[in-house]
Amino acid sequence: MAKRNLAVMLVVFVMSSSMVGCFGSDGLDILPEKKGVPGGLTLACLRSSMYTSMVIEIDHEPGYRPFSSSVDLLIERLESVCDKPSGISVEYDEVDFGHEGTWSAQDVRDKGWEQKDTSPRDGTTLYWQILFPAGTYDSDSVLGVAVDASTVALFSDSIDEADGPFGRPSVEDVENSVLVHEVGHLLGLVNLVYESPVDHEDPDHPGHSSNDDSVMYWAIESADVGNFIFGSLPSDFDDDDRADLAGLADGSIPIRDQLWS
Ligand SMILES: [Zn+2]
Repeated sequence: MAKRNLAVMLVVFVMSSSMVGCFGSDGLDILPEKKGVPGGLTLACLRSSMYTSMVIEIDHEPGYRPFSSSVDLLIERLESVCDKPSGISVEYDEVDFGHEGTWSAQDVRDKGWEQKDTSPRDGTTLYWQILFPAGTYDSDSVLGVAVDASTVALFSDSIDEADGPFGRPSVEDVENSVLVHEVGHLLGLVNLVYESPVDHEDPDHPGHSSNDDSVMYWAIESADVGNFIFGSLPSDFDDDDRADLAGLADGSIPIRDQLWS
């Protein structure tokens, strides 16, 4: 138990010893509603027994709307793993977060919940929220964070600087991959709310894949990604990631910390 909590709360270190803020701290509030940990609404997405539809709420500041290719790709990826017979749709809100300075995980959580259109669990609809704020994370080497069971943020000011030599990968490529990566954490990847029967978690970067062909590879959310992976970035889950999700969905892999049960 202690080890697993640690995995979620651990702040991971990048090459330069600057910090990657993949996961925020616990996020366990009693009132008014439990926010849960990244992965706390994994079954709510993978299965349709409680939630038959899903909405991705995108709250962006003016000028920070994501590329449509990022959102299209995210929906495609979610549709490939989550059972939502009534569909997965997107709602865009242009907002002013009214935030000064850099962002901490707690800032993302607080501002996110201020802006949520509804509870993450509303009737038979599951809502996940993605913030695109102006400004950077506490460490500007962080491109995205997942802070609780329903909330992630992408830092476009940092993503804009993270393209590779000669634009390979491009800013759009990086945003595509970071978005799928952060939402992958909401799906519990890797080992956030379960223990994979396959050894594919990077021991040096807890919560991440050791396979650099997986979108859950740790470097994806790091500003160094453009130097790390030249050319095309992974933007999809690999076979091990997908096997984990299938096992969680059918119950063959035990899961913990779910908000819905
Ligand atoms: Zn990550």
